[in-house]
Amino acid sequence: TVRVRFCPSPTGNPHVGLVRTALFNWAFARHHGGTLVFRIEDTDAARDSEDSYNQLLDAMRWLGFNWDEGPEVGGPHEPYRQSQRMDIYADVAAKLHEGGFAYHCYCNTEELDARREAARAAGKPSGYDGHCRELTADQVAVYRTEGRQPILRFRMPDRTIVFDDLVRGRLSFEPENVPDYGIVRANGAPLYTLVNPVDDALMGITHVLRGEDLLSSTPRQVALYAALAEIGVGTGTTPRFGHLPYVMGDGNKKLSKRDPQASLNLYRERGFLPEGLLNYLALLGWSLSEDQDRFSMDELVAAFDIAKVNANPARFDLKKCESINADHLRLLAPDEFARRLVPYLQAPGLLPAESAGGPTPSQLDLLAKVAPLTQERMVVLSEIVTMAGFLFVDPADFTVDPEDAAKVLNSDARPVLEASIKALEQLGDFTPEPIQAALREALVDGLGIKPKFAFTPLRVAVTGRRVSPPLFESMELLGRPETLRRLTAALE
Ligand code: GLU
Repeated sequence: TVRVRFCPSPTGNPHVGLVRTALFNWAFARHHGGTLVFRIEDTDAARDSEDSYNQLLDAMRWLGFNWDEGPEVGGPHEPYRQSQRMDIYADVAAKLHEGGFAYHCYCNTEELDARREAARAAGKPSGYDGHCRELTADQVAVYRTEGRQPILRFRMPDRTIVFDDLVRGRLSFEPENVPDYGIVRANGAPLYTLVNPVDDALMGITHVLRGEDLLSSTPRQVALYAALAEIGVGTGTTPRFGHLPYVMGDGNKKLSKRDPQASLNLYRERGFLPEGLLNYLALLGWSLSEDQDRFSMDELVAAFDIAKVNANPARFDLKKCESINADHLRLLAPDEFARRLVPYLQAPGLLPAESAGGPTPSQLDLLAKVAPLTQERMVVLSEIVTMAGFLFVDPADFTVDPEDAAKVLNSDARPVLEASIKALEQLGDFTPEPIQAALREALVDGLGIKPKFAFTPLRVAVTGRRVSPPLFESMELLGRPETLRRLTAALE
């Protein structure tokens, strides 16, 4: 059975590369009816933070991922935070050392640097040169008296490492390109190079899907797996590896996690739907079919095939991401769409926060009415603030966009506003059709203004902007008294 893992390190804020890795692992697990292990790789106390950890969990929840083993859900391989597994790593490290699969290395940074430089100058491979592989007891004694603390270094086998990557096909690495590498620091702290494969082995991981940036560590890990099998750690089988293509940002540069465009929070704040964002991220290396860009998570799971992942770098295209999100927005049932808008109106205080009792029934009713007027026009949910904020804002706080006011609410607008106020005061039924008929009569027939120009000042006065949901519906939702008050205010 398939067992995959998503094993981020809790540093910084979640970013889109991380989310794509989580998505592909999740989809792979679900497609195969397998198990998704969520593991936290927090062995680097200097860089990891509890805040990042909480953000990761929150992001996973928001994205709608469920995991079968890991934090909060537990599982047979607890604990799932590496910071709580230090005894295990110390034990495995000791066994590797005893078995001769790893050795103490006393070289200090200056020595390593100097020898690396010399190798480079001589045109030789510049990785670790095996200096401490076969130290004599006397040499060790000298280093000890010098007060040196050794690191533990893994002894790479002297053979070509070959594996079949699920995305890239057969890959092979020559020994001179994969030197011996550190697995435990001098202070006893185990490194990623050790703890990641050890946990994959202990947790019975069958497939490792991760970013191409980790490809260089795979031959080392393949060798370490063989050693773990020899000392009886884990299941004894090496997982299959699949390296997901790089994601390129602007200027065809690798999207870095520090790039603002990479921050998951940005997409949440702008109001991407999780299903819209995930749909787009799935396209970074994979596609459902040539003629279908938009799909649901169920369709993704049903069709997901790691062998169809493209090894070429994928370009992150924000416009495309937005357009896919807009498609998903339009697909939501109206009441669901309205429900998703709530937090985006709460954030700027246009609706009361949950901690303050949440929106009132009449506010929810208003939202239900305005939502269908905006759904077709929106790309991200936060646009509801500029589009429909005028309906929710406290009348005392209503303001007109200064630029639009300067352009539109000039002296030409006066007669338009005056005639409109008069017409609307006299109107019987304050609903869209009669409103439209009365305003047409007053402005187009009465003042001889072209329909194209007649309504713009009204729109700016009432909604605050030149771009808004349909005007007459907006007036109805706002109600007659407030509509008249805003038209009158625009005269001043
Ligand atoms: N904790 C590692 C990272 O976040 C995991 C890498 C892997 O998937 O092996 O980069």
